Amino acid sequence: MAAGGTILLIEDEDEIAELLKLYFEKEGFRLVHAATGEAGLERLGERDPRIVLLDIGLPGIDGIEVCRRIRAGTEVPIIMLTARDSEVDKVVGLEIGADDYVTKPFSPRELVARVKAVLRRSEERPAAPSTIEVEGFVVDSGRRQVTRPDGVHVRPTAREFDLLWYLAQHRGLVLSRAQILEAVWGYDYFGETRTVDVHIRQLRKKLDGIPIDTVWGVGYQLAG
Ligand code: CA
Repeated sequence: MAAGGTILLIEDEDEIAELLKLYFEKEGFRLVHAATGEAGLERLGERDPRIVLLDIGLPGIDGIEVCRRIRAGTEVPIIMLTARDSEVDKVVGLEIGADDYVTKPFSPRELVARVKAVLRRSEERPAAPSTIEVEGFVVDSGRRQVTRPDGVHVRPTAREFDLLWYLAQHRGLVLSRAQILEAVWGYDYFGETRTVDVHIRQLRKKLDGIPIDTVWGVGYQLAG
């Protein structure tokens, strides 16, 4: 019945929990529901889930803090459920260690696809180490860090690094947001182009001068 393993959902809205339970059980997962962050942290220890779906707006301690506490003790993949665009910025900007997020209202089908993509990615073996140099920036896939032209090492978040590595491997090519989403996030294009934009913004901030160009109406290009 639950060959897919256990998913822990921390969410205070019962209707969402019931709907997701139906969808995930149909897909062969067992869904354990906790309605508060405190209860969720307890279930985490008891049930050892493969992945956590975590609402930000919770009574008591909020999802951001729950995410921090989970990350302090475990590497379990986390997908945040956000209600507003401003929360998206928070999830990405605070680097709390979430693996992905979806914005409400989302379709259960989309969430199922993301869960599968995150699980697939988290279980893949890392690629052979290698470096790519772009205008003085050395992108090192073994260390998953970037050395700036001034010699300073920068360690982007996991997703930012995956995005940069993808751009670096295709430098000189114009890549659409849909292409980037599929390659880096591992799921089909659901219209979440904002996800790509937010991560590009973070990369530009951390790697001042990195030659990532916006190609209007299409996507992005790393000079090469
Ligand atoms: Ca909520």
